Amino acid sequence: MMISVESASETILNEIKPLGLESVDLVSALGRVIGEDISAVRNNPPWDNSAMDGYALVSSDTEAASDSNPVTLKVIYDLPAGSVPKGPVKSGQAVRIMTGAPVPEGATAVVMVEKTRGTNGAVVIMAPVRAGENVRKRGEDFKAGEVVIKEGAVVRPAEVSMLATVGVPFVFVRRKPRVAVLSTGDELVDVLSVPSTGKIINSNGYALASLVAECGGEPIQLGIAKDTKESLHEKLSRAMKADCIVSSGGVSVGDYDFVKDVLREMGSSMIFWKVAMKPGKPLAFGVIGGKPAFGLPGNPISSMVAFEQFVRPALLKMAGRKDIFRRTFPARLTRDLKIKPGRMNFIRAELKADGTGLSVEPLEGQGSGVISTMVRANSFIVVPPDSAGFKKDESVKVQPFDSSVFLKDEHGY
Ligand code: AMP
Ligand code: MG
Repeated sequence: MMISVESASETILNEIKPLGLESVDLVSALGRVIGEDISAVRNNPPWDNSAMDGYALVSSDTEAASDSNPVTLKVIYDLPAGSVPKGPVKSGQAVRIMTGAPVPEGATAVVMVEKTRGTNGAVVIMAPVRAGENVRKRGEDFKAGEVVIKEGAVVRPAEVSMLATVGVPFVFVRRKPRVAVLSTGDELVDVLSVPSTGKIINSNGYALASLVAECGGEPIQLGIAKDTKESLHEKLSRAMKADCIVSSGGVSVGDYDFVKDVLREMGSSMIFWKVAMKPGKPLAFGVIGGKPAFGLPGNPISSMVAFEQFVRPALLKMAGRKDIFRRTFPARLTRDLKIKPGRMNFIRAELKADGTGLSVEPLEGQGSGVISTMVRANSFIVVPPDSAGFKKDESVKVQPFDSSVFLKDEHGY
């Protein structure tokens, strides 16, 4: 029996829980999910301060100022950034102030230095200065006691800036999922050796580890297991220090496909599915000692597509993320696309943003072992199971899997 991609995804995600918290420094927090509400202990800015290099003054002194009626104020002291006002400003007086310095008591505005003429110990103003001009008000950004970042927020450079501003050098974030990656197959050799006849290099182990790292997890490479129950048991026993297990190969109905048996023997209620998707039909999933375990298919593209659709959202959920699915965008098809209906197809494609919007080119070579097509692709066209395909210029759903579509080789102003 085949099950839909949606119901496989739902069943898996029902078993996934967010990991616990750990305290990390601010830059290490990048990309992680905040585990606590962050409140400000101080106002920001902490005091009224100058937005310009200029003169702090009493704005009412300048009400009648003009080219023909310049107002001259006595400069009573200099106030660089980082220093404290030496005293209040009274009518007829001004303070030479630098950007960021606290506005002295009594001053109600700052006039830009460019709009003044300086003379010995005095400043000449030729136009009225509005009350509040060039003054950043105490607490205008946020006030003491305010929640400035909510639990669940993803840390971007903006959040790092905020955390530093409120004086938080370490922050609680959700732990990164540690993911054990295992490749299975008697035909596999490591990339460090030259494959003899009948052998192929284990690429899935590296591809899956990099997929784990790409979505914020920490891969633990378990290497290659032979197609024997003993070898699988031996390797998988070392997976128990991880938060999640991902294997590839050995989940089909071949004579040497023992992964699902071994996972079951390790004490999980393993589910073995034929998922109505192409590529990536066979999938094993279960929970072993509280840790989710995924048995992905062996073909390189099948394992990557299955990772994208099932493992990635699970790892993001473990990391505390709420938005865990890749978005799809409508795009115009550049040529006809024929599909055998019955399964959800993930067609490797090149998504392009041009002057008229998004267009998408389905690539030649959709076999589940054709890695070169994956190298040329930046997205999947997602074809629903009931569709026999689309005509050129029809709108299709596209799921980009890297950010190349948002970047280009010249500026985009
Ligand atoms: P399996 O699902 O174990 O029958 O594997 C299907 C096919 O995927 C095998 O015939 C291999 O060609 C290929 N394959 C399996 N595991 C890997 C791997 N780790 N790296 C590259 N190709 C693999
Ligand atoms: Mg195999």
